[in-house]
Amino acid sequence: DVDKRQPERWTRSTCPYCGVGCGVEAGTSGGRLVAIRGDKKHPANFGKLCPKPAGLPEAVHHPDRLTHPLRRHGDDFARVSWDEAFEEIAVHLGGVLEEGGPEAAAFYISGQLLTEDYYAVNKLARGFVGTNNVDSNSRLCMSSAVAGYAGAFGADGPPAAYSDISHSECIVLWGSNTADCHPVTFDRVKRRKKDPKVSVVVVDPRRTPTAAVADLFLPVRPGTDLALANAMLRVILDEGLLDRRFVERHTSGFEAAAEVAAEWTPRRAARVCGIEAEDVVEAARRFGEAKAALILWTMGVNQSTVGTLKNRAIINLCLATGNVGKVGGGPFSLTGQPNAMGGRETGGLAHLLPGYRKIEDPNHRLEVEEAWGVEPGTIPAKPGLPATELFRAVDNGGVEFLWVAATNPAVSMPDLARTRRGLRNAFVVVQDAYPTETTRLADLVLPVAGWGEKSGTMTNSERRVSLVEKVVEAPGEALADWEIFAGVARKMGFGGDFAWKDPSEVYEEYRELTRGRPMDVTGLSHERLRRGPVQWPVPERIEHAERPFGGIVRMWDRTEDEHPGTPRLYVDSKFDTPDRRARFEPTPHEGLHEPPGGEYPLVLSTGRVKNQWHTMTRTGRSEKLMKGLDGPFVEVHPEAAGEAGVENGRLVRVVSARGEFLARALVTESVEPGTIFAPFHWGDLWTGGGSVNEATHDAADPVSHQPELKGAAVRVEAIGEQ
Ligand code: SF4
Repeated sequence: DVDKRQPERWTRSTCPYCGVGCGVEAGTSGGRLVAIRGDKKHPANFGKLCPKPAGLPEAVHHPDRLTHPLRRHGDDFARVSWDEAFEEIAVHLGGVLEEGGPEAAAFYISGQLLTEDYYAVNKLARGFVGTNNVDSNSRLCMSSAVAGYAGAFGADGPPAAYSDISHSECIVLWGSNTADCHPVTFDRVKRRKKDPKVSVVVVDPRRTPTAAVADLFLPVRPGTDLALANAMLRVILDEGLLDRRFVERHTSGFEAAAEVAAEWTPRRAARVCGIEAEDVVEAARRFGEAKAALILWTMGVNQSTVGTLKNRAIINLCLATGNVGKVGGGPFSLTGQPNAMGGRETGGLAHLLPGYRKIEDPNHRLEVEEAWGVEPGTIPAKPGLPATELFRAVDNGGVEFLWVAATNPAVSMPDLARTRRGLRNAFVVVQDAYPTETTRLADLVLPVAGWGEKSGTMTNSERRVSLVEKVVEAPGEALADWEIFAGVARKMGFGGDFAWKDPSEVYEEYRELTRGRPMDVTGLSHERLRRGPVQWPVPERIEHAERPFGGIVRMWDRTEDEHPGTPRLYVDSKFDTPDRRARFEPTPHEGLHEPPGGEYPLVLSTGRVKNQWHTMTRTGRSEKLMKGLDGPFVEVHPEAAGEAGVENGRLVRVVSARGEFLARALVTESVEPGTIFAPFHWGDLWTGGGSVNEATHDAADPVSHQPELKGAAVRVEAIGEQ
């Protein structure tokens, strides 16, 4: 129901959807969330919001909310107490550890979790259960950017800030439908574009609403980004646009990268990409001639079996033109999820530990073991399984216990038939706020306090840490995720190490593990964040700052010796590599893992629509946001539609070598003839016609292990039933 009451009170908080991380104000009345408005003081959005958070009051108080722990009995579920649920987990987990060892247990978590939740599960899994099988759905989203930054700069972390958009002369949006997926950031781009000296270049196989505002649109074929990036680098060299001084003083590896780029004439790249050679040259000139230029990118770059190389190719272009650590310039990946960054910071990927430490580094393991007060050697030296391998192991019996938190892999993982089979094989615990396709397959379902019902922190795409506030009570017996992890830890006999009274204590413990690290947040606390969000690094005291501040520092009410935060990284051109130089990387072109042809002549690209989020767990429960959405659809070019006998608005079957799904055909020239596009939001709970990921494959990048969700070979079939 939509609550029509006027708010009695407004509380500053942060939007729980995309990585823009907009500040919101939550309006409450009589213990209910009744309204949401933009926070005019928050530097990510200055009061602007996209439509999604407006649906929060409906979703938070929706009658579907899970309110009590549930235990499977055959095909049904019965209510159990928290004590029984914790006991059941402790017994199962204990049994699996005894028989299969720590590698037989796994945790699959989410960029929806708050930093405190993330920290608690990492501590439990790695420090006490002794498994590194902790991976996040951020693996599907940003892990190629993590690998790209770490390879080029020696540390993860987008160097730029949203304010750079307002100082840039050329903004390249590469594989990013910013207009629909990061609408408030797109607003900044549009505002900046009003200046006649600013140009916007969009690279995307699909003519998106983002492409509609471009000065130059490059509709490349899927999987050809590396050809384009190499050719752009070649033009930059040929036309004397190289920032030679920056390259010589602050980088390494340039010659090898330039050698690969030299093979890519604009004409050759144009042939491979399916665009005009003049446009390749034009894109390179616009980027290379601008006083400051930005490249913003998301899943079109990352979700690829060569996602890490694509990230490196983009960073190569920025390094070649001196666009790093510069006002208005830089490589800037936009995170999909609200706290994908917090997950990276707390060690939420299988190869990481808190504070951007690496599992493979013995000193890093020891530092964390000492902080957690566990025996040296407790944390295994081998990284855990990344998501796609983890679900393969669940399917083949290598993982027997799986704990899923705040994500819905039964819709969002590639190759769903395999994923579902695995979820039926293992003992599966799922904690969520709503019933999902994954809770239906669980052995134990745990109800969680959702957004507005617990406090904690999130980090957005520009490294800005913001506070999320508790404004209403959680329904029934629902608990915060960190409380559930701590409850099981207590049951397993580790209680003293998880005895936090509230989430601010979890944060205080976590921040100590960031001291002196590239993403130091020792200067932050929940109390300080109540005065306003801050960009890391933010060491404890101002004199500890190693880097001069870049650009305009927005001073929140900070006391004299408080560090103000860091708007821009690498302003001194000193990188986190051993020689303090940024590294170029040769990026030879490689195409799609599964090229189209034969029975499957089309490439399926997956993505989002503006008013929905992920698998619709929350946004699907808002009438406001569902308005105008007529179920799943697939965009098909008229040429491909004609060949398959498909008519606009009719139901079609999309088939790959792995599975199929049903959707209504939207016949449009937004896609090129060889590509189709379908949003991944709808699962079986909504349609009964299968999810898009029935058709996708789980082949992944060898470095980042991110799967290629935008490149499955498929065919489209017209079907009789309408
Ligand atoms: Fe929320 Fe992203 Fe929309 Fe901002 S742009 S209101 S963070 S979903």
